[in-house]
Amino acid sequence: MATRETIEAVLAGAVERARACGEGEPATYIPELANAPLDALSAAITLRDGSIVRAGDDEHRFTFQSSAKLVLLAGLLEERGEDEVFRIVGREPSGGGFASLARLETHGPIPANPLINPGAIALASILEGHLEDRLAWIERWAERLYGDALPIQQRVLASERRTGDRNRSIAHFLKASGVIDGDVDEVLEVYFALCSIEGSVVEASRLAAILATGGLAPRSGERVLSQRTASTVVSIMATCGMYDESGAYLCATGLPAKSGVSGVIVAVATGRGGIAVASPRLNKKGGSVRGHLVLREISRELGWHFALPD
Ligand code: GLN
Repeated sequence: MATRETIEAVLAGAVERARACGEGEPATYIPELANAPLDALSAAITLRDGSIVRAGDDEHRFTFQSSAKLVLLAGLLEERGEDEVFRIVGREPSGGGFASLARLETHGPIPANPLINPGAIALASILEGHLEDRLAWIERWAERLYGDALPIQQRVLASERRTGDRNRSIAHFLKASGVIDGDVDEVLEVYFALCSIEGSVVEASRLAAILATGGLAPRSGERVLSQRTASTVVSIMATCGMYDESGAYLCATGLPAKSGVSGVIVAVATGRGGIAVASPRLNKKGGSVRGHLVLREISRELGWHFALPD
């Protein structure tokens, strides 16, 4: 295992080199995301002993977007179990974009996996109680996994709602096909709130660190997720977490990960720690350009590719 000093030096170097890359554009289909500071860049690694290594802009905050789909998946696996979760969503890569409707028509109606928009919308529909109770459920699980009570960013939430017609059509399609029932607008409200959780790379990396230890909280060692939940979530991240670039990304890094269109990527270095990198410049598949660069370099320099021996 690399020393803390080595990890610090590698992360700092990777962030500095990634900063020089000016490729990629922020997401604009959610207008408020395009207001993010374009050149902000931050990264954190929570190691299994709970210590945190940081690099880049300390004040950088962003919404967790699709990386928060992990909260919904992990919480539901814990509370309802695999049978119930995988009755509603599959666990195969979709091979398509994260908001594709085409696949629901041709291979559906069950969404391919829980990490694309249709999968997370379907899972959001099985939360119980009034809308307030379902929002409280999201906040509770987010606090457990991120280690802090994080706010919902109201401007991003408003922007998601105002421009969310594609997600709305996905939800209506799922209802028309009998995959979800209940009030579609309420299901979407829960989904939009999930995407609008705001925090920093420190909280995002804590969730990844819990997954990296088979479900234990960093530092305290308290069990937060069962081993089974952690291994299922990490496996689905490996195969589906980076959408239609999951394969190339995993070959390059060997670090199962989940991206979000705010430009965050959370990645799991099993047995070592959790990594989060954020920068709003995105490639065509909705993944952070600089996030990819940083994760490749960390994996290479620290030998953290899961398929390579120590
Ligand atoms: N809120 C975004 C959406 O629904 C999340 C997508 C993403 O992060 N890939 O489209």
